[in-house]
Amino acid sequence: MSAPIELTELHWLLAITQSIDVGVVVFDRDFRVKVWNTFMENRSGVIPRDAQGRVFFDLFPEVDRTWFSKRVENVVTLGTPSFTVWEQRPYLLRFDNYQPITGQEAFMYQNTTLFPLRSTNNVVEHLCLVIYDVTNVATNRRQLQQANVELQKLSSTDRLTGLYNRGHWEEALKLEYARHTRYGNVSSLIMFDIDHFKKINDTYGHPTGDRVIQQVAEVVRQHVRDSDICGRYGGEEFTILLPDTDKAGGRTLAERLRQSIEAMVVEHDGKLVRFTISLGVADLSRPASEYKELIEWADQALYASKHGGRNLVTVHT
Ligand code: GH3
Ligand code: MG
Ligand code: MG
Repeated sequence: MSAPIELTELHWLLAITQSIDVGVVVFDRDFRVKVWNTFMENRSGVIPRDAQGRVFFDLFPEVDRTWFSKRVENVVTLGTPSFTVWEQRPYLLRFDNYQPITGQEAFMYQNTTLFPLRSTNNVVEHLCLVIYDVTNVATNRRQLQQANVELQKLSSTDRLTGLYNRGHWEEALKLEYARHTRYGNVSSLIMFDIDHFKKINDTYGHPTGDRVIQQVAEVVRQHVRDSDICGRYGGEEFTILLPDTDKAGGRTLAERLRQSIEAMVVEHDGKLVRFTISLGVADLSRPASEYKELIEWADQALYASKHGGRNLVTVHT
């Protein structure tokens, strides 16, 4: 004689609950654990016999008691499930992550569902908490975001110096110019070029020339403010956009850069290289028809510095 169908089904349900790859915990209104499936046993290390009757918060001290109790209260009152997602709360229960592929994450990312269990008299006396391991999803998403950040950086910066490349720098200038036309703030621009750089390449070799370019970028970084926008405009030509700074301020920075570079000795491959730069400064205190005009003005001033004997700062007038 076979068991009544209801009882068989109950056994099936129990077996299913045990074997599915999600955590299942049932607890009563006093947070005492009633059901604890195999997933919970494996991840927490607590066997069902030891979990039975224990208070949920004693088993998981990492759970914020006030917050979780409120959540339970809402589920009971409204009679509807409540969810947490890993994007907002990486995990509810602190389980180690031991997935072989995604081993770099220290803990298991989780989505959770909490829903009411009604007794035969339709009263909610128990709740069921389901834990989903979403570490794979979270890891993939985070790696993708990381890759996007790296890609963004690669496409906006110059490989040799780490400064913005010309394209990105010009986009920044466009934005700054738009801000200027709207709010009237005055910004200035420094353009400079290494003097007789061909000779450095010819005398010391291209790799040393590269080193010189890197060192110049380093000097720029040491002297500017966080808000300044520095770019490698061409081979050995650099641009610095100084938001909310007029050409007097631009001249001060330009002069500092000129002096620092003049005093600097670049060492590479046992060779010592001294060199200078010529600079041009312009600002938006006079009306410009478009952003490119500011570049032209700074370039004209730079040209005047070259023409005037190099190792000079010229302010466009
Ligand atoms: P001037 O004082 O008039 O500026 O003289 P210059 O010799 O610096 O003249 P110019 O600006 O025409 O020369 C730039 C040289 O820079 C030409 C090019 O071969 C070299 N160059 C451009 N990019 C790089 C680079 O990334 N690395 C190295 N080592 N050299 C570069
Ligand atoms: Mg040059
Ligand atoms: Mg040049």
